[in-house]
Amino acid sequence: MKDPNLIRKETLPVNDVLPQIVFTPKELSASSHPEAMKMIHGDAINVTSLKLQTFKDGGVRCRICGCKGEYFAKEKYADQPYFHLNLYAVKDGVEVLMTKDHIVPIAKGGRDKLNNFQTLCFDCNKKKAMKTKEQVKKKDLKPKVPAKPKDSGK
Ligand SMILES: [Zn+2]
Repeated sequence: MKDPNLIRKETLPVNDVLPQIVFTPKELSASSHPEAMKMIHGDAINVTSLKLQTFKDGGVRCRICGCKGEYFAKEKYADQPYFHLNLYAVKDGVEVLMTKDHIVPIAKGGRDKLNNFQTLCFDCNKKKAMKTKEQVKKKDLKPKVPAKPKDSGK
C-alpha cells in the first residue's frame, strides 16, 4: 500500500513521535512557525503539519473501522528536500496509510480547522469520499416531480 515512489528511511514508534508534534496557535500548517522544523533522528521534519496535529489531537485510530496506526515512517519523494512522517496501520499483513479526513467536506462548507479533521485509514477515507460523491450525485439526479396539475374541479 505504500506509494512506490516514496523513499522510506526508517520507521518510528508512535509514542516516540506524538510528543514531538506541536499544535500551532492558529492551526496553520505553518512552516514559518518557529517550532515547525524539528530534528527527529537526524532529519529536519515539520512537526506542525495539520495531519500530524490531527493524529495527536484525535488519536491514531481510524474513526470508522477502528484500525490503529502502528508506526510512523520517515518518507519523502525524491524531489522533496525534507522527510515527512506518514502513519501506517497494518491490516491482514498489509500496510494502510492513515489520513486526515475533513468531517464536513470542503465542498459542503467544511473548513481547514483541527476541529473539522478526524483520523481515517485510507480505505475508509476512500469509501467515505465515494459515498459523499454518490449522495451529491443522487441529490442532483433526483427527478423533479412536476407539480400535480390541480384538479379542475369538474
Ligand atoms: Zn478505517
